[in-house]
Amino acid sequence: MKISSVNVSSFADFEDHEQVLECIDKKSGLHAYIAIHNRNLGPALGGCRIWPYESCDEAITDVLRLSRGMTYKSAMAELPLGGGKAVLIADPKTEKTREMLVAMGDFVDSLNGAYITAEDSGTSVEDLEIIGSRTKHVAGVNRKQLRDGSEVSGDPSPSTAYGVFVGVKASVKHQYGSEDLHGLKVAVKGVGNVGKRLAGYLVDAGARVFVADIYAPAVDEICKSLKVKPVDLSQIHKLEVDVFAPCALGGFINEETIPEIKASVIAGAANNQLAHPGIGELLVKAGKLYAPDYVINAGGIIDIFYERSVYDHNKVTRHIERIGDTLGEIFAMAKNTGQPTHIIADKIAEARFGKTPNCKNVA
Ligand code: NAD
Repeated sequence: MKISSVNVSSFADFEDHEQVLECIDKKSGLHAYIAIHNRNLGPALGGCRIWPYESCDEAITDVLRLSRGMTYKSAMAELPLGGGKAVLIADPKTEKTREMLVAMGDFVDSLNGAYITAEDSGTSVEDLEIIGSRTKHVAGVNRKQLRDGSEVSGDPSPSTAYGVFVGVKASVKHQYGSEDLHGLKVAVKGVGNVGKRLAGYLVDAGARVFVADIYAPAVDEICKSLKVKPVDLSQIHKLEVDVFAPCALGGFINEETIPEIKASVIAGAANNQLAHPGIGELLVKAGKLYAPDYVINAGGIIDIFYERSVYDHNKVTRHIERIGDTLGEIFAMAKNTGQPTHIIADKIAEARFGKTPNCKNVA
């Protein structure tokens, strides 16, 4: 097993990250990166993504962007946490093994709590339990008690989905004057752990929901349980709808897709939705309201924070519902200043966490 620092200063997405580590375990075939962006507010907490990246540079770029997003997310959600993330290069459906997850646990443990891992795309509660068999620096695994006494798994996705639902309503209220979703059309791209639950909330609230996913069985499954309409993946963002909810992976909002997106509200769960920061200006010009990703998808990290202290379902719900108020404030400031919503959010977050890192390397 080998863990070593990677020099990432030449990457466009490097932004004063405290450290990026490469983790290689030849025996299990594990090749992963752990990025610690900023720990000014607390330990770096963020999920472990498993994805078949085509190159190391692609994986490093993703971990740099995702870990940065976690710092901003926790700051905006007023949590005493910093930002970190891990990415593991493998196809989660065909290549993920128990041995890899065990090795990942050992790598996480070697950082002595500077980085705390959790679920992300490609990892499940069961995977995190395996990682957690080697380290205590794991979140999103403890069962939680709800108000009615019933128990749910540690998976933060339901809370993320609820937060995105709250955020969709706040966005619709700002753009269309009412948060009533009856009859509104919403296109959800990606119906995995978060997207499928978001679709459920939307249908219950009276919205007409369209779905697409690169993984056909995910679409088949949701169509069996919910009144949603499946559409071709290439068409989902082009539909004449009121809200486009990206719930797959990032970078989808770019120069090419903006003219194709008909919805005037973009509000979804995916991390790093904007291909680059300049996209925000283009969205303003196109008259589209964008709910900054790390603000609207903070429900999961809020849930995990309470799991690590005292889990009180009412408190968690109230905290998640503040996402709507925060978005409302960002939208109002963006309207008054003409600035893109993600720039406003960045400024608020940066004032909270202090951009200059003051922590030393961990390995
Ligand atoms: P997931 O892996 O369960 O679901 C993602 C879905 O997107 C999968 O069904 C996958 O097949 C699909 N997908 C991937 N690429 C696609 C493409 N190009 N087009 C269409 N569909 C595609 O992941 P998740 O936990 O639901 O997370 C979804 C997004 O939300 C991710 O960007 C994740 O980082 C972000 N997010 C998740 C959480 C959480 O609590 N799970 C929290 C914050 C942010």
